[in-house]
Amino acid sequence: MTLNRKTALVTGSTSGIGLELARHLARAGTRVVLTGRRKDLLEDILRDFSLKGWEADGIPADLATSGEAERLFRETLSRTGGRLDILVNNAGVWHQSPVEDISRATFRSVMSLNLETPFILSGMAIKLMKRQGGGTIVNISSVAGIEAWAGSALYSASKFGLRALTQSLLAEGAPFGVKSFAICPGYVATPMAADSPIPPEEMIQPEDVARVVMAHLSLSGATVLKDIVISRLGAEQ
Ligand code: NAD
Repeated sequence: MTLNRKTALVTGSTSGIGLELARHLARAGTRVVLTGRRKDLLEDILRDFSLKGWEADGIPADLATSGEAERLFRETLSRTGGRLDILVNNAGVWHQSPVEDISRATFRSVMSLNLETPFILSGMAIKLMKRQGGGTIVNISSVAGIEAWAGSALYSASKFGLRALTQSLLAEGAPFGVKSFAICPGYVATPMAADSPIPPEEMIQPEDVARVVMAHLSLSGATVLKDIVISRLGAEQ
């Protein structure tokens, strides 16, 4: 895909992997819609993008709240002239606790952001992309979406679920030229991994994840990679 003059929506793009990916896309000439919960932060980022001459819009949204994904999608299309070439489901929260301590409320709140919102956004996006005759949906899963450990059940369930969503989207979109792929990184040096005992310089860097996504987006229409695992050097996963 040539990225110049394309349109993209990247969720969770006010920090970490999402912000880095939004920067890469905008630098390549894509008109990016950024979204996050904090309006002031979004405005600062948009000002910085504008100074660089990059095309971008910002729509604040709390994607753990019912109805916000639908509103975000509608508002995105109103900014992009009704077209969407790339959707990146990146917003997510980490959760760690044994299964016995997970309440229904906690389950719903993690699943709502990490899995329900990507489902809803992807459903609306694939419908549009099929009509357009092309597009790509990128889901930011995790190595915890391939394997689960003590304490990771809820987060892992959401990230396993994202891979299931990706596989079905790929099968449903392929006849229409719509691609879907999932990226499964280990520890990435972002605010989410700030409490990890691993020093940030030994983690995967957010720009590495962005580079992998950009490489995939540049592949020819007939090629797709499946379950891309990005590991730290020397790490088991
Ligand atoms: P991050 O905390 O920097 O970014 C998370 C993003 O999600 C932020 O932009 C935040 O504003 C947004 N977000 C959180 N709650 C939200 C809500 N209710 N509504 C809207 N947006 C909300 O962390 P990150 O590492 O950049 O995370 C990005 C994605 O990468 C997540 O899905 C995460 O699960 C995944 N991931 C991270 C790592 C890691 O080690 N950092 C590893 C594998 C996968």
